[in-house]
Amino acid sequence: MKPATVYPTVVLASRNLKKAGEIRDLLAPYAIPLVAVAEFPDVPEVIEDGTTFAENAAKKARQTALHLKHWAIGEDSGLRVDFLKGEPGVYSARYSGEGATDEKNNAKLMCELAGVPPEKRGGGYVCHVAVSDPEGNIVLSFEDTCRGRMLDEPRGPNGFGYDPYFLVREYHETFGELSPLVKQQISHRARAFRRLIPGLLKVLSVGRKED
Ligand code: IMP
Repeated sequence: MKPATVYPTVVLASRNLKKAGEIRDLLAPYAIPLVAVAEFPDVPEVIEDGTTFAENAAKKARQTALHLKHWAIGEDSGLRVDFLKGEPGVYSARYSGEGATDEKNNAKLMCELAGVPPEKRGGGYVCHVAVSDPEGNIVLSFEDTCRGRMLDEPRGPNGFGYDPYFLVREYHETFGELSPLVKQQISHRARAFRRLIPGLLKVLSVGRKED
């Protein structure tokens, strides 16, 4: 029997524990040794000053890879609401300003959408994922979206961020209500990683002995 490929260690350049947990689950079937950047206390925080998800994802991957001399995955994601012309977008994590929390961000979003009827509350979660080699070259970059509609009352205890307000039409349930296993199949993150994985396995295999 052919032995399994041994992949090099890959650092996950995200300090958001919920998000990192979802990414870990998405990559679990592939036996890639994953380490969270949080395990390296001397790695400086990446300033997310890009104007697109792609720029921020690339910056997280590149800076982390260069600092640790390891392969790194950078992920940037957020919610784009049609009625708000794509806001909060890249500012999703800090929508309510200094000291933002999920609760405060959701409160601000509900304020902005007050009185907006259901048919105008469409939006999509976007996820961009980028991979840097240990020299800081971005070798893979993919983006995908999961469409839904923003409710005006939260529903369900699961997920994080805007999930309790994000209704997935096909399921008639929010990401807060759907089981993590379903979110893991249909989310923006799941879609972007599904596109990424074939290329990721390929670039990590190059130069590896497969006996
Ligand atoms: P980032 O860590 O800068 O990429 O910010 C991501 C932010 O986008 C989170 O803090 C949430 O506000 C929002 N977000 C991204 N993905 C999700 C998700 O799967 N569920 C809920 N909120 C999300």
